[in-house]
Order: sequence, then C-alpha cells, then structure tokens
Amino acid sequence: MARDKMWRREIRLVLLLVAVGVGLGGFFGQPAWGACVALLAVMARWSLQLYSIYVWMEEPTAEPPEAGGVWGLILDNIYQLQRRNREAQLRLETALDYLQDSLAAMRDAAVIVDARENIAWANDSSEFLLGIKFPEDQGRPLVNLIRSPIFQSYFETGDFSNPLRLLPVTEGDRCLHFEIARFGAGDRLIFARDTTENYRLEQMRRDFVANVSHELRTPLTVIKGYVETLQAFPEGQTTVLEQPLKQIGQQTLRMENLVRDLLWLSRIETVETLRKTEPLDVAVLVTEIVSQLKPAYAEREIQTELASGIEVLGDRSELHSALSNLIVNALKYSDQDVRVTWSADDDRARFSVSDKGIGIAKQHIARLTERFYRVDKSRSDDRGGTGLGLAIVKHVAASHQAELLIESELGVGSCFSLSLPVASAPQS
Ligand code: ADP
Repeated sequence: MARDKMWRREIRLVLLLVAVGVGLGGFFGQPAWGACVALLAVMARWSLQLYSIYVWMEEPTAEPPEAGGVWGLILDNIYQLQRRNREAQLRLETALDYLQDSLAAMRDAAVIVDARENIAWANDSSEFLLGIKFPEDQGRPLVNLIRSPIFQSYFETGDFSNPLRLLPVTEGDRCLHFEIARFGAGDRLIFARDTTENYRLEQMRRDFVANVSHELRTPLTVIKGYVETLQAFPEGQTTVLEQPLKQIGQQTLRMENLVRDLLWLSRIETVETLRKTEPLDVAVLVTEIVSQLKPAYAEREIQTELASGIEVLGDRSELHSALSNLIVNALKYSDQDVRVTWSADDDRARFSVSDKGIGIAKQHIARLTERFYRVDKSRSDDRGGTGLGLAIVKHVAASHQAELLIESELGVGSCFSLSLPVASAPQS
C-alpha cells in the first residue's frame, strides 16, 4: 500500500541520514557525534513540519502547508477529517435552521428551555400566547414569565405524560393546552396551543344542557302534581285513566331522574375551579350512603367491609354521588346481595362494589362511561336508569385523581372499583 511505502521510505531516510552521520563522524574519529548530528537534523525537520501544521490548524480555512512524505500523509488525513466535520456541521446547521424556521412559522407557541429551566429559544407566537419575547427573554427563568401556579406545579413535578389544560381565570384569558417533551441533556421543548374556541363551544354546550334541564323542571313538577291529584281521586272516578296515569307517572319520574343527572353532570363539569376539597373518611361516607339506600332496597342485603380511618381529599357531594351510583347499579343489575369494601392498597385505597348479577360482555366495558351508553336500554329504563350514572362516576374519578376499574363477566357478575390517592391512613 502507498501509505506503508511512504512510512518505509521515511524510516529508510532516517536510517540513511544516521548512517551518513555515523560515516562522516567516523571520518573525524567521532561516529557517535555524527549519529547525534544526523538525528538532530531529522528532529529539526520534523519540528518544522509540526510547526507549519500547527499554524495551519490555528486557521484551518487557509490553504494547507506544503509537506512531503509521511507528513503530507498526516496533513492529508487531518485535512479530510476537517472537511468532513465542516460538512457535517453545515448539514446540522441547515437542519437546525430548517427546524427553527418551521417552529417559528407555527401558530402554536414553541419554547425551548435549558436544563436550568431558563429560556433558550422561543418562536414568534410565544409572545402573543405566553408573553415570552425572543431574544429579549433569552436566559430568563420560564416560571418567571408563565406565572400560573397550576403551570408552575405541572412544570416542577416533571411528569409530562399527560398534557396540561390551563383554563381561563378571567374573562379575557385564553384556554391553553400545554405539551412538554424532554430532549438533549435536560432540555425541554414546550408547545402551547390556544384552545379558547373549543373551550367556549364546550361551555356553550354545557350551559345549553344545564339551561334546558333547568327549564324542564317546572313543567315536570306541574305534570307530576296533576298526575298525583288525579290518582288521588276516589276509586271509580278515574278507572279509565288508571293505566295512562300510571304510565305518565312512571315517565315523569324517568324524566325527573334524567334532568337531575344532567344538571348534576353539568354542575360537576363547571365547578372544576370551585371544587370544595376536604379530608373525607370514606368508611363514614359509605355507611351513610348504605343507610340512605336501605329503605328503597329493604329486601336486599348490602354487605360492607370498611377499613376505618382512611381519609381521602375530595368534594363530599361529588364522592357521595359517585359511590352511591356504583352501589345503586350493583343493586339494579343483580337480584342477590351486593358487597361493598373499602381498604388500603399501597399508597392508595380501593373502594369496590361487587355483585353476582347479569354481568357485562367484554365488548361493552370500554364504552360504559360514555354518556347515555347502555348495554340493554330497555332493562336500564325498567330499572330507572338514565345512562348517565357511570359518566358521573368517571368525571368524579378524574377530578379526584382516582381510577375506575371495571371487571365483569356476562351472567356471572361485576366488580366496579375506584382506586383513590390516600390523604391520611391510621397509624398501624
Ligand atoms: P344506567 O342509568 O343505565 O344504569 P349507568 O351509566 O349507570 O347508566 O350504566 C351504564 C350501563 O352499564 C348500564 O345501562 C348497564 O347496562 C351497565 N351496568 C352498570 N353497572 C352494572 C352492573 N353492576 N352490572 C351490570 N351492568 C351494569
């Protein structure tokens, strides 16, 4: 190979020089001195070559110095390496510019924050959506510019597996949807999208449902009043109307339940920011619910096994409605006794209601918490169902950082559980 040949030539040259040095030195009776002078000449040549390479490397854009032999080979290798590095750097810079240009053109805000949580870069939309100006705010801590305490605690926990939805606090505020991704050595890329329009539409839908439900209450009360008055007529006077009146009474009751559930659902959806959170002893709450249900289900036994003293943080009326919906469902969809348990489960606690009732086929389970989803509509209607019970449970679970678990087997029975974070547990 040419490379090996060059190295061999260089070694031969050095040996030749040393031999000449020894020969000339020998001629004067000093062969060792002759060898030393020859080696010094070799080293001087190498130093000169090294120096010219060093000077060139200080300013690599200049033409490489003239060098022959192995030095030319080394210089050539360094030159190739540098050229490849420059090309790679250029490619990277082009890709970065391209990426920054596309991020800059986005309607969403994009902010890059370094490992010390200071702003490294932000696009134009960040000024409009988040009030972050680039390059003016470069190097400033992000949390000094996005001052919402909800955002700050989300950002500081470092768990970005779920996006954050920041609701408007005052009339002019925007609704923002945040997503954060980590990259590099502790850097973070923050995307913020303006979802005010969706939020307003959602609010309009909620207000509409709440208003309609509210308006229906008065005519329903009037109809119910007349039906009860007519039903109270002395026997014989309304015989022909007996059946229709019974049906009107039943349908009025169904509508009343529906209106009640719709109003409750829109209430728990709207009070997101006003939720009253307090420590609650779930065993006490369940005992209260069971005794309230007893008169309506006198012939049924509700077995309870409740660990006392485990408290959770939550809104009393919301948890009351979620837990009672699960117990009522177990009673509605089975004709045997139901079992209610409340127990510690690591750093959480679990509320479970199990029944040996009709059970639910696998394909329905994922959809049960959708509004108005019912496996068997007529069966649900017969039992006074509205199709909103589990939607309420799901909403309450989400606002209490709880998880709803559904296990069921068709014809065998079901077990609905809520796994809740514990606020305080009794010392063992
Ligand atoms: P509903 O008012 O119809 O009971 P829910 O939202 O509470 O509405 O429940 C939705 C559907 O889930 C019910 O219609 C029923 O088909 C099914 N379901 C709920 N709980 C049970 C249960 N314990 N056993 C069997 N099916 C159930």
